[in-house]
Amino acid sequence: MQKPPINWTNTLLFTLTPLFALTLVPYYGLTHGYDAYEWGVFIVLMGFCGMSITAGYHRLWSHKTYKAHPVIRFVFALGGACALQNDVLHWASDHRRHHAHVDNDDKDPYSAGRGFWFSHMGWILREYESGKEDFSNVKDLQRDPIVRWQHKHYLALVLLMNIGLPALLGYLHGDVIAGILLGGLLRLVLSQHVTWLINSIAHMWGRQTYSDASSARDNPLLALVTYGEGYHNYHHTFQWDYRNGIKWWHYDPTKWFIRSCAFLGLASDLKRCSPIVIESARLDMQYRHAAEKYASLRNADKWLQRLETEYEQLKSSLQTWAQHRQSWYEAKSSELHEKWSHWERLQLRDSYREAKYRLKLQRQRWHALLENFSSIAAASPA
Ligand SMILES: [Zn+2]
Ligand SMILES: [Zn+2]
Repeated sequence: MQKPPINWTNTLLFTLTPLFALTLVPYYGLTHGYDAYEWGVFIVLMGFCGMSITAGYHRLWSHKTYKAHPVIRFVFALGGACALQNDVLHWASDHRRHHAHVDNDDKDPYSAGRGFWFSHMGWILREYESGKEDFSNVKDLQRDPIVRWQHKHYLALVLLMNIGLPALLGYLHGDVIAGILLGGLLRLVLSQHVTWLINSIAHMWGRQTYSDASSARDNPLLALVTYGEGYHNYHHTFQWDYRNGIKWWHYDPTKWFIRSCAFLGLASDLKRCSPIVIESARLDMQYRHAAEKYASLRNADKWLQRLETEYEQLKSSLQTWAQHRQSWYEAKSSELHEKWSHWERLQLRDSYREAKYRLKLQRQRWHALLENFSSIAAASPA
């Protein structure tokens, strides 16, 4: 099959910049050296670009998981140009298509089904049909004046942020070249590849915790270098949640950043998926995987029956817990406080605690059933 024509601008840009970064950065380091200030510029600009893409391009503009103050949107627009990942309109349009047609090799612009290389950066280097510009899915973003402004002045912003800013930061410290090499070149190459890992590795390695409808995986290791975007199976399942790592201990700096902005009044309407929906999705996946394994046992019917009973009971405990939780939170909330007497509130609190405890016990039994499969299988060989 004839390959689509090469996009020479992108090909030269994305092959020459790593080449220069791999040669010029170490050469200058060996001949002149870099100091803490210059590495500081590198780290700060890495974070600036990374966060502008994850919190801005991705969770704000592509998915609208929260609303942001114009000042924040302006900073993201600058950071996105610094990351050189195209303007918001192109990025969000591609990304929305990625979610709508995930793994469809003809429509998903960076479909993982076409291999690691294609989904990582190959898709940018040729004029593929799946990557054709089509802004029909970002009409809402075209109404954002900051998005329009960035689209109009994109090239100037790219030059300003990638050469002007690092050169200025270097100049202030007495070494323009070091500023451009670390804050410009090395930072650019690394921040781009970090983002691309989410399209490649996060669709290949990791767990399908919430759904196997797409190739997206949860990969906590990847979250460490992608500002929290490694929980990609969760993200594809619940794309309108501003979080990717949902547990408090999940490493998701983008989530913490958005929450901090909300605390300062710079972000609002942070959307979260309800715990019961999340938990149900996870439970369904566990049930399906376990059922597949149990089906191979000699007395499969008996074990499948047990599995199903536990699954149904756990789902019902989950439902009860969610209802009691809702009532207790309402009774606790200051606006609705007057509706309940002190005695009623105590009752609601205790019912919630009871439901929580019952759910905990049910969960323990469920996990025992899932984790002890090997000993069950040994006792009931196929
Ligand atoms: Zn997304
Ligand atoms: Zn994806």
